[in-house]
Amino acid sequence: MIRTRDAGTLRAADAGFAVTLAGWVARRRDHGGVTFLDLRDASGVAQVVLRDPEAGRALRAEFCVLVHGTVAIRPAGNANPDLPTGNVEVVATDLEVLSTSAELPFPIEGSLYGPGSVEETTRWRHRYLDLRRAWPATALRTRARMTSIIRRVMEANDFLDVETPYLTRSTPEGARDFLVPVRLQPGHWYALPQSPQLFKQLLMVAGLERYYQIARCFRDEDFRADRTPEFTQLDIELSFLDEEDVYALTESLLTTLWRDLLDVDLPVPFARMTYADAMRRFGSDRPDLRFGLELTDLSGHFAGTRFRVFAEQPYVGAVVLPGGGSLTRKELDSWQDWARGRGARGLAYVLIGEDGAVRESGPVAKHLSAEELVGLPAAAGAGAGDAVFFAAGTERPAQELLGALRLAIGRDRGLIEESAWRFLWVTHFPMFEPTDGGGWTAVHHPFTAPTPEWADRFAEEPGAGLARAYDVVVNGIELGGGSIRIHRAGMQQQVFDVIGLTREEAESKFGFLLEAFRYGPPPHGGIAFGLDRMAAVLAGTDAIREVMAFPKAASGGDPLTGAPTPITPEQRREAGIDVAP
Ligand code: ASP
Repeated sequence: MIRTRDAGTLRAADAGFAVTLAGWVARRRDHGGVTFLDLRDASGVAQVVLRDPEAGRALRAEFCVLVHGTVAIRPAGNANPDLPTGNVEVVATDLEVLSTSAELPFPIEGSLYGPGSVEETTRWRHRYLDLRRAWPATALRTRARMTSIIRRVMEANDFLDVETPYLTRSTPEGARDFLVPVRLQPGHWYALPQSPQLFKQLLMVAGLERYYQIARCFRDEDFRADRTPEFTQLDIELSFLDEEDVYALTESLLTTLWRDLLDVDLPVPFARMTYADAMRRFGSDRPDLRFGLELTDLSGHFAGTRFRVFAEQPYVGAVVLPGGGSLTRKELDSWQDWARGRGARGLAYVLIGEDGAVRESGPVAKHLSAEELVGLPAAAGAGAGDAVFFAAGTERPAQELLGALRLAIGRDRGLIEESAWRFLWVTHFPMFEPTDGGGWTAVHHPFTAPTPEWADRFAEEPGAGLARAYDVVVNGIELGGGSIRIHRAGMQQQVFDVIGLTREEAESKFGFLLEAFRYGPPPHGGIAFGLDRMAAVLAGTDAIREVMAFPKAASGGDPLTGAPTPITPEQRREAGIDVAP
């Protein structure tokens, strides 16, 4: 049953040779006593000519077959220039059906997204069939090439691949843990890691200095289109470093991936922007730099305004809708609906006339003073025929609304340079953000070090302190993020104090890390990349599930195996789920 050739590799030079192929019947056409088969295996497709009408008629799509035959040049006019094997065909001398196929839940050949496309859940439910299709299989191949390049680059840079436990204690990355009951210790539970964070820091205490791992992570979060409960990180940690080492390593890794997989030369170093600038200019901590249309801060312009909506707001900002001055009432209303869909009350706007002045008829313009109107187009960066949308309120949410609006306008107006790759480091994130309960939580995670200026006073002003944290972003997508860590026990304790973790809690949750830090921990830091996201970007899709072999559905369940499932009373007893420790 051994095949001698992969179907997709046959070329004109093979003509005259006997071959044995094995694969699946992708297509079958009968032509006056002759059956033409497209035989597909992992390498591609070859045409097989079968001169046994009975055997030909017995075949159906996706039968698994073995074919003995001779390679021949296709008769004149029958070549298929779209197929690498398009100049040849295999004239079969014998065909053996290895296994038959039931009726298919969806056609294997045919377009994935166009007419006849298949619903996602059905694809995941029959993923083993979906992966027989060309594009889905190519996406997995791209992912495999990506991880292979990653390993090559990491090893060339002397990084050591280390596996850390999956059955462990909670790692604080801001999500809920998945918990695993332990039969032998009823009432005790493991947590699946949200990231290898604590272990990689321990490996630095251990003196390994350069660690990496392609690690599965588990986060029990609310369902979102671009998240799944388990995902893969490229996780990296180094000792005796500063931010520049992480930036240089990342840039060398990403330029290699983009060059080898996409044939794109990325300029280095990547641009850099502080978090504060990113929010101020783009209303996002992962700005898409493929177009301009920056936000403007009009807080100064409207200081002392009598317009109620803007008065006494800490922040008034704006974004321009180019050409928006000529929108119909209905089109303007649809932007209001867009804003309401995001939970905003609406969007105040003014229209700029063809003379470059604010049209005074609008609902906002009539509340503004003459001085406010005169300077407004220039202050907002608007030209003749544009519209200006405003957001007023607390700075961060107002900027985020404008940032999302900027993106929506960019898409709507075709302003985004689709073929460009704009990489960016976002740096100097805040250390903490307020919690709903009036306390503080770490923006990155509580092991992140403050910037030198904040080292001695972040505890006094938690809302203002800046972290040595960084994200690498491309075209508005966050590819990875990390930080320089705290390696002194006193400072770590201060952070725990700010986030309201008592000594006892800190001890019980992270005592093992704090203890390790008593034994000469080196300065260290690192980064983690979302590999599913990165593979999706490299494969040219927005959908991370396309680059996962067996993805969960948007509901978090697995349509293929039916997981998660209820357990039996017996399993429940055995796992000790109801036992109080
Ligand atoms: N553990 C972090 C994360 O999962 C990454 C890092 O700080 O290296 O986001």
